[in-house]
Amino acid sequence: MYVGVVGSLFLTSYRSISMAEIHIVIVEDEPDILDVLSYSLKREGFQVTAALDGAEGLNLIQAKLPDLVLLDLMLPSMDGLDICRHLKNKERTRTIPVVMLTAKGEESDIVLGLGIGADDYVTKPFSPKELIARVKAVLRRCGPAAKPSAEQIIEVDQLAIDIGKHKVCLAGSEVKFTATEFRLLHYLASNPGRVFTREQLLDQTFGNDVVVVDRNIDVHIRAIRKKIDPSQLYIGTIRGVGYRFKDLN
Ligand code: CA
Repeated sequence: MYVGVVGSLFLTSYRSISMAEIHIVIVEDEPDILDVLSYSLKREGFQVTAALDGAEGLNLIQAKLPDLVLLDLMLPSMDGLDICRHLKNKERTRTIPVVMLTAKGEESDIVLGLGIGADDYVTKPFSPKELIARVKAVLRRCGPAAKPSAEQIIEVDQLAIDIGKHKVCLAGSEVKFTATEFRLLHYLASNPGRVFTREQLLDQTFGNDVVVVDRNIDVHIRAIRKKIDPSQLYIGTIRGVGYRFKDLN
């Protein structure tokens, strides 16, 4: 399967940054999980510092801004959602990517976390391999090497989204898209691997100043899938949370 992003800067520029220059803070109060996280990340060459307590974690982050934060939700002294809210509300820390660690069945926390600006989440129990893949994907998207993407055409497998021409092609044939559907697909495809809640998709794709006839995201996703993605190769549904354009890299 061919997967590529024409003219994209982020993959190539990411590779030029050594892992040893990337500093990750873990805030997790369960020592066993912390050990696994820390070991897995260090083995990949990341610099890791850790805190077992929420307030201590926030201090650690503020003392020396890391490139990414792995954040457990249930923590002593200050919970993960509060820490995330704090980071995303402050100019100085707003752009630090946050990956939440959640237990299975905490969909409402995931929705809340993504809503206040967390960049992704990993559900416990996780495999170290999955964790590393998620961390790397988030760093590609919003880490130190990520630059505003300059690509004019996003190509993934059989799908090509021409941003300049507002055109979508599947296997070389143009598929007609409404303006709303195009904005939604473009937004999702520009953030591969990132999960968005329905509310975020509405806010971030349409804002408040655009009249969207149907504000039900599910209806638009259904329409898009019917046109280009009947087998859901590209757009995945994350049950109880929202949607994600699959990171086929
Ligand atoms: Ca915990």
